Amino acid sequence: MSTANIAIIGAGPAGLTLARLLQRKGIPVTVYEGEADRHTRNQGGSLDLHPKYGQKALSEAGLLNEFRKIARPEGECIKLVDKDGNVLADENVDGNRRPADDTDKPEVDRTALRDLLLDSVEPDTVQWGRRVDHIDSAANGTHDVHFTNGTAATGITLLVGADGAFSKVRPLVTDVEPYYSGITMITQWVMEAPTKKPWLDKYVGAGSLMMFDEGRLVICQRQSGDAVRTYASLRKPLSWSKECGIDWNDGAAVRKALVDEYYSDCGEDIKRVLAECDDDAHLDMRHLYMLPIGLTWPSKPNVTLLGDAAHLMTPFGGVGVNAAMADSLGLAKALIAQKTNLHTQEGISRAIEAYEQDMFPRAEVFAKRTYDGLEHHFRATGGQEWAEKFGGKKS
Ligand SMILES: Cc1cc2nc3c(=O)[nH]c(=O)nc-3n(C[C@H](O)[C@H](O)[C@H](O)COP(=O)(O)OP(=O)(O)OC[C@H]3O[C@@H](n4cnc5c(N)ncnc54)[C@H](O)[C@@H]3O)c2cc1C
Repeated sequence: MSTANIAIIGAGPAGLTLARLLQRKGIPVTVYEGEADRHTRNQGGSLDLHPKYGQKALSEAGLLNEFRKIARPEGECIKLVDKDGNVLADENVDGNRRPADDTDKPEVDRTALRDLLLDSVEPDTVQWGRRVDHIDSAANGTHDVHFTNGTAATGITLLVGADGAFSKVRPLVTDVEPYYSGITMITQWVMEAPTKKPWLDKYVGAGSLMMFDEGRLVICQRQSGDAVRTYASLRKPLSWSKECGIDWNDGAAVRKALVDEYYSDCGEDIKRVLAECDDDAHLDMRHLYMLPIGLTWPSKPNVTLLGDAAHLMTPFGGVGVNAAMADSLGLAKALIAQKTNLHTQEGISRAIEAYEQDMFPRAEVFAKRTYDGLEHHFRATGGQEWAEKFGGKKS
């Protein structure tokens, strides 16, 4: 019996989790990743994995114990302040933590999670430096994927797009494209915070410090290795980043603009946070995009999408990676259920349909929650609303 030729595009959390789950059940798979190797790009800030989604996928992948070793439960601690810097709630203080059943969503650094997944797949599963350029589809439903380095993967009987926000696989299933969410995010870091910026280190606490306000927010997140990452996000038109006159390559100029202009009426502590995250090697300005909430498409026989490629959302629900890994588990289960039929187009089609019927409504719930999060985080009363949910404990 010939087997399916399964290609996953993208070695992010979604693609790697799927690869691991399939390999554990003896289903061969290759992952094609655009980056040159695992060290090419800093994978960014931390993610919280929820018991029913990210952690469940890791459990089925036999990786939950390893995950617990790299997870940071203390990273769940939230400190809320208002725009003047008044503390609204602070879980760093003993006795102020939410009840345990609200939590168990430990933070993990993205790089650590990716390393865990990369080390769990068979050697040479990930083909690095294979950025998709275009895809040709044959009349029999198979796909030939052409990479920007001139190579190609041919005769693919199941193509899985796990290639993130601007997926090259997505156009095979839908014409819908991501649109600008209205939010521009400026990310700054400081390394070795305890020694270099002791005030900031103490002020942020063990997890996340958050300030929500009308049309703007500041979120600071502790990372492993004593780093602190600060996201200043503004509700602005797409053209603002070009028209505002800020030189995004000049860290000092960016910080000055934030402190003197966009957050000038905030309390001194908020401004100090923005000023102290000054490791310019990691400065980043990005426009946040999203796909329409509830996006679906008629199932196609030999191609499907996972994670951000299927349902890109902003980070304001803190659920994107959980949605992605739930997809991986769902597709893996659907394929494993058809294992003996995967050499046929019918077997693959049935698996795709079963996966998508389950994925579409789940993604819609996540996307709605995220949109509500966006609205909440950018209104003046957002901090107070959350503080009340937490019991408003300050000290
Ligand atoms: C600032 C920020 C904070 C976030 N915080 C959280 C959080 O706290 N909790 C949470 O659950 N989610 C969070 N998210 C969302 C989360 O990061 C994503 O939902 C998650 O990474 C999606 O995983 P993925 O595997 O689908 O896509 P990605 O992580 O984007 O991985 C896609 C992979 O595909 C590769 N690729 C892309 N294009 C190509 C191509 N043409 N050819 C080959 N390879 C390609 C990329 O290099 C990458 O390795 C956050 C997102 C952002 C932007």
